[in-house]
Amino acid sequence: MEEQGAENGVADMAACYQGFDPGAYLQNNYSPAIADFERKDGLEPWKLACLHRAFTEGDVRGELLVDVGSGPSLYQVMSGCEVFNKVLLTDFLEVNRQELRSWLQDEGGCSMDWTPFLQHVCKLEGRPSSAWTEKAARLRQVIVDIVHIDVHSPQPLALDVLPSAGADCLVSAYCLESASPDLAAFTRALGHIGRLLRPGGHLLLIGTLGMTYYMAGPGVKIPTVPVNAAQVCASLKESGYTLIRLEVYRVPQDMMLCSDDSPGTFFVKAIKE
Ligand code: SAH
Repeated sequence: MEEQGAENGVADMAACYQGFDPGAYLQNNYSPAIADFERKDGLEPWKLACLHRAFTEGDVRGELLVDVGSGPSLYQVMSGCEVFNKVLLTDFLEVNRQELRSWLQDEGGCSMDWTPFLQHVCKLEGRPSSAWTEKAARLRQVIVDIVHIDVHSPQPLALDVLPSAGADCLVSAYCLESASPDLAAFTRALGHIGRLLRPGGHLLLIGTLGMTYYMAGPGVKIPTVPVNAAQVCASLKESGYTLIRLEVYRVPQDMMLCSDDSPGTFFVKAIKE
């Protein structure tokens, strides 16, 4: 009975995602008006600084970085692409994988100009912002594939996608709480993706705090599971991770988006036991 309820919840989420519009999502969250790099207290500078720090502390290393639930977005691998020689992008939806492919092919037709993000990460690395073209080239060089993933499946990726040892590091932004009907499903999904990671590998997890919905296109309202920091810590522990740190960003009142009701974001660095 309980299992049936859980399956229905996950199926309802998958149905909601059929309306996901990559262009609208990018516009709502990452267009220049929203991702204003002049505002030092903005979410994007905060997120990129967390990722930069996590990837440059020296403990995160290896060959393969997997981004879980990339969506149509690339900012989350802009620091990691300098550390890893192979980066695998993944998403549940073909429309998002297609959007990422069009950026990779660089022949126009891409809905998003990632230049300000690339420039900002170059500056974090102590390089001039003009080095963004080199970073874009590096990113295009290390992305090995863009594949389907389902975090609600005990085996989220097709069998032959990863080497048997697993990935050296996972990054995942705004995927688990946005794809899960409730906290139990969120925790299970953390466990599922952990199977992709080698023991001793790192998880860098970004997510919203207390968000109940976001808009993923005109009239496409996606319900999400509102989580708090204590719940995230408990879910990590239950799913076999050891927390290294959790940081919290609170959205300034004048920067609240009209496309969601999220008051904050968390960033987690954890290690798989
Ligand atoms: N990481 C991106 C996108 C987050 S939006 C960013 O930071 O902008 C949430 C993403 O979760 C969407 O791309 C959606 O396709 C994906 N998603 C939805 N259901 C999923 C599932 N069952 N498994 C994996 N990803 C899923």
